[in-house]
Amino acid sequence: MRGAGSNKRPGGWRGSAAQIAVGRAAIIKWNRTRHLQPKCGAARKRDGEPCQNLGMANGRCHKHGGKTPKGDNWHRPLWPHRDAPGANTKLNRKLNDLQRTAVKREKRVARMSPEERAAHEQWQRTHKPGSAAARERQREYRRQAKETRLLLSTEPSPLSPEAQALQAEIDELKAELLELEYKKGVFA
Ligand SMILES: [Zn+2]
Repeated sequence: MRGAGSNKRPGGWRGSAAQIAVGRAAIIKWNRTRHLQPKCGAARKRDGEPCQNLGMANGRCHKHGGKTPKGDNWHRPLWPHRDAPGANTKLNRKLNDLQRTAVKREKRVARMSPEERAAHEQWQRTHKPGSAAARERQREYRRQAKETRLLLSTEPSPLSPEAQALQAEIDELKAELLELEYKKGVFA
């Protein structure tokens, strides 16, 4: 790996007055429109006011879930690439973070009321990590199960007028048939 200042040569571009001027102009231009960029939608921890960081694609900043993966990696930890600079440090930091989060979650669950705990467990059941397609299949399965439960729980609907008329006819024919069979028995 080359040193940080290896490009800085006398008379070179890096660190020159011209480069500094270009950089300054770019920053001034950026700062002029920064307040117009969409902000993060989260509430700040220290005072509950809206977070002032810039939002990422999902409307949250990098500290408030903006970097949370979507799709197939939803709810899955993202590991640093092994060739990334400082990969080992990043990996250890990630593992420590996950460990700390797990401990925090355990404490939070322990403090929950039975209802909160049931809701929490239900959420965990219905929000399992996995590929986007697998999660979509599970959603569809739950939707169908819910529909079936609803269907089974409802009372049978009263017959329509047409069905009532048909049923009356059927009853009449059945009565005629019984009569015929009776007569057949008598005169046999
Ligand atoms: Zn934020």
